Amino acid sequence: MSDLIPSLSELHSLPQVQQPSYDDPDRLRWVVNSLRQLPPLVFAGECDELRDKIALVADRKAFMLQGGDCAETFASVQADNIKAKLRVLLAMSVVMTYGAQLPVVKVGRIAGQYAKPRSKDTETRDGLTLPAYRGDAVNGFDFNDQARRHDPDRLLRVYNASAATLNLVRAFVKGGFADLRQLHAWNASFVKDSRIEERYEQLAGEIERALGFMLACGVNDDTLTTVDFYASHEALLLDYEYAMTRIDSRSQLPYDTSGHMVWIGERTRQPGGAQVELLRRVRNPLGIKLGPTATGEDALSIADRLDPDREPGRITFITRMGAEHVREKLPRIIETVEKSGRKVAWVCDPMHGNTFETHNGYKTREYAAVVEELNGFFDVHDELGSWPGGVHVELTGEDVTECLGGAFQLSEEDLDSRYETACDPRLNRNQSLELAFMISERLSQ
Ligand code: PEP
Ligand code: MN
Repeated sequence: MSDLIPSLSELHSLPQVQQPSYDDPDRLRWVVNSLRQLPPLVFAGECDELRDKIALVADRKAFMLQGGDCAETFASVQADNIKAKLRVLLAMSVVMTYGAQLPVVKVGRIAGQYAKPRSKDTETRDGLTLPAYRGDAVNGFDFNDQARRHDPDRLLRVYNASAATLNLVRAFVKGGFADLRQLHAWNASFVKDSRIEERYEQLAGEIERALGFMLACGVNDDTLTTVDFYASHEALLLDYEYAMTRIDSRSQLPYDTSGHMVWIGERTRQPGGAQVELLRRVRNPLGIKLGPTATGEDALSIADRLDPDREPGRITFITRMGAEHVREKLPRIIETVEKSGRKVAWVCDPMHGNTFETHNGYKTREYAAVVEELNGFFDVHDELGSWPGGVHVELTGEDVTECLGGAFQLSEEDLDSRYETACDPRLNRNQSLELAFMISERLSQ
């Protein structure tokens, strides 16, 4: 490849964490070379378009909604599942657009979110210790030797699963499914007896009347019938992200064509690390997760590394402090960054700082803690005069029981009934919509 991008062996010679340990280097090389021959999943022009939209977020002119599974799985690459996820994201974005009276930039944790950083390398059950599950991109979820082996062939399956997902998403958002006149249909299968659903129906009715009025006046614009929807994931696996990095024929600049936006996780954001080294070369908009141990100086040094030219829309800081820490930790980070003159998009991930394990052994989150962190995020930005630019959530379109509380007051006992996540607990459809109303209220204040 050109000298615009480090070689894979250069990348692997840098400090790196959370990478698979493959036992067959020849097979890995073959997989990487095969991936490099395959067409890009996204196009440079689309990444630029998203970067421009994120620049509007940084400039207080838009709000960002980023959401989807903690970990996608190959088995869930199915039309119904993808459709349900899209439906809840579109419903949330309508609620938020209406409340904020601002455009909502829609980004899925989708079509590539297959690799997970883990706090422990191994997992022990009944005296048996095996490698931890690191996402379908690396190994299998089943607890046996064979499944937990790190298998490079899985990277090709990530490509295929992402391509199939993206293909369906593109068809949905441009092919009539996202037509605003479908607002009621998006909600058709929501639990009918919830007050959230009633609220949604009422809002959909209002929008429908407004739309009818506009159509009667002769307004007939594509923006009423299609939406722009982008794909994002954590750029964790060096081999995969490297293989998908291509030189754009128009601009002659490198893009990571595995997704429109990629982010660097809380565990892999070391400024001298390999992930940062690869991502600083590509032109995509980038997310950077910041947890409660991050300082303003940490945020600035990584931003300087990834975005020396301070390009509008390039950097999104995704803060995930935890409900307990957000009011104390977030202000100094924002102040330091804003004082430097940098304009970034500030997005709140109210999920990852609020995870705990229940007595019956489920990893979960309290809906109330999610709301509490978001309220802290909005309050801190209000006090500092900065713009609370968006939200980053783990959710699913299904009626799972993974997070506690919400309109249906899910209890620890309820978790047993439909706990399906391959990694972190996700908000279900109802909890997601409820959160959209909460955000919409904050934005309209
Ligand atoms: C995630 O987004 O699933 C994740 C692992 O987040 P973080 O890097 O913030 O812990
Ligand atoms: Mn997660």
